[in-house]
Amino acid sequence: MLNQLDEGISIYDRSGVVARLEDNLQTYFGVRHAVLNSSGTAALYSMYAACGIGPGDEVIVPAYTFFATATPLLHLGATPVLADCDASGNVDPQDISRRITPRTKAIVVTHMWGVPAQIEGLKRLADIYAIQLLEDGSHAHGASVRGKRVGTFGRAAAFSMNGPKPLSAGEGGFVLTDDDEVYHRVLLHGQYNKRCRNEIPGVELGRYAVTGMGLKHRIHPMAAAIALDQLSHLDDYLAGRQRIAEYILGELDDLPGLAVPRTEPEVLPSWYGLTMRYDADAFDEVPVERFHAALQAEGCSELDRPGSTCPLNLLPLFQDPGPLFPALTGKLTYAPGDYPQAEEIHLTTLKLPVWNREEDLPMVDRYIEAIRKVTEHHAELKG
Ligand SMILES: *Cc1c(COP(=O)(O)O)cnc(C)c1O
Repeated sequence: MLNQLDEGISIYDRSGVVARLEDNLQTYFGVRHAVLNSSGTAALYSMYAACGIGPGDEVIVPAYTFFATATPLLHLGATPVLADCDASGNVDPQDISRRITPRTKAIVVTHMWGVPAQIEGLKRLADIYAIQLLEDGSHAHGASVRGKRVGTFGRAAAFSMNGPKPLSAGEGGFVLTDDDEVYHRVLLHGQYNKRCRNEIPGVELGRYAVTGMGLKHRIHPMAAAIALDQLSHLDDYLAGRQRIAEYILGELDDLPGLAVPRTEPEVLPSWYGLTMRYDADAFDEVPVERFHAALQAEGCSELDRPGSTCPLNLLPLFQDPGPLFPALTGKLTYAPGDYPQAEEIHLTTLKLPVWNREEDLPMVDRYIEAIRKVTEHHAELKG
């Protein structure tokens, strides 16, 4: 990584560490094009712009996702149409199908906490309606369904490589696509001048190469060097996580009132987090806040209740965007209560990190012991 300081810290075209990482991402995912970006948010923004999303379009996005899945749409003048989730916390294809209108330009899916969504069903749905399917793979680098990696099911996919994500650059992101037109337009959106001049053929788009669309989303070469190193370890890292996730699931399986994810054998998650759904009925109605606090007091400091990743209808930006986006006044009027399944899941989710090394097992055991202890003694948390 330090070599990168000598090799170059500004890269204006597809060369050096940028080309090496994009080549390796293309090979890893089996896609024709990868474009690095300064963040996952920027990657999503470029992907949406490149897929022709603009003013007046509706784009169906999960109600339960990190908000950056949807916020770039606001900058394009498009309307995010939120869809509720299924019992797993991923977006529900049936709820999506109810929200399709003649204005629907795309369906977006996030694979929450690294567990793949019902992606094959979503692909069929998108094909039936001839609507483009787009993926936000930011929790799920390397996760797969029947051996096909998430991020390769739709017209394009965007990923974050922010700090804790399964593949990290510190800060960074990328877009994947097999579609040349989308590729060229991603370049025009955020990678102007030299790279566009080198790579965009023909005059129709090529004549805009110098300015592109005027935004600059290039990754920092140091960040690319970090991710290049990480990518070479990703599959080992995911295999380690899978082993520990299976161990935790086996240990927690018999605990009443804490439901863990169930995945089919053909589904391989990336285990960005391991969620437990808290059922207060099984704990004499002890509130989840108190149960969580008791676990933290037992030393489970990394067990958390997701906060900023929450149903989007609970966020002011999606209830009343007018002061920040005047053109959207009256168009986004979501309110608490609109997405019962997403809100219920959000309120009752406790999330464990999934460690990935053998040496982590003693700590995993301490977490499991603490969970068992608090579960057995929950009656003391009442009142
Ligand atoms: C992290 C994340 C993003 C945003 O990525 P940044 O690199 O932080 O801009 C978008 N979507 C999801 C689902 C994320 O988890």
